[in-house]
Amino acid sequence: MRRGDLLSDAEVRAVFAALAARLAPRCELVHGSAFELLVAVVLSAQASDAQVNRVTAELFARARSPQDLVRLGEQGVAACIRSLGLWRAKARHLVALSQRLLAEHGGEVPADREALMALPGVGRKTANVVLNVWFQQETFAVDTHVQRVSNRLGLCRTRRPIDTERALEQRVPPPYRRHAHAWLVLLGRYTCTARRPRCEACPVAAWCRRHGLPTAPPPARARTPAGSDRARP
Ligand code: SF4
Repeated sequence: MRRGDLLSDAEVRAVFAALAARLAPRCELVHGSAFELLVAVVLSAQASDAQVNRVTAELFARARSPQDLVRLGEQGVAACIRSLGLWRAKARHLVALSQRLLAEHGGEVPADREALMALPGVGRKTANVVLNVWFQQETFAVDTHVQRVSNRLGLCRTRRPIDTERALEQRVPPPYRRHAHAWLVLLGRYTCTARRPRCEACPVAAWCRRHGLPTAPPPARARTPAGSDRARP
């Protein structure tokens, strides 16, 4: 059994068709506007979506716009988000990015990666999530789940998130590009978990390269014509 093989283009298509059939794409960060989504994604660094949702329930009750957040100030924001890691830096970034949105974008969240990444506390992954979830762009935000699942499955063999993003941009076929990020995140969060992947319950186990090629060659008596002897369950 060989290891390290990448999925073929046909297999990539089959994987995403299976994910589309089994998983409703969704963002699990609670938000009601582009600004709230941006804030939630900034807060999600080194925190789970559930932890972020707990603090944004209080934060968004007090501040739903850049103006509100600037008015609340760094200390007011910090008081709401203190249960999260990196809370001091996050509070500072949220106030600073709100000021920048007001000064440079009329208080609106820009639908542009470069403009988003110019905001304090906003990196490429955050920008890609906002562009994908709110602005419905075909971006591929690579978080820890997407990085792990993409490599286990055999979508790519990459170490750096930027290389994974480029591989996904090249490999994910058109009908599935819009929701590929959400499907890979959900697969990684609930099935292909870091320590104990639940391969027995995985909708794409038939194609997964984690344990090598997914099926052994058929026995000689069942062998089919050349080029078509790799059966799929
Ligand atoms: S078969 Fe297992 S390792 Fe492969 S994607 Fe599914 S859960 Fe992850």
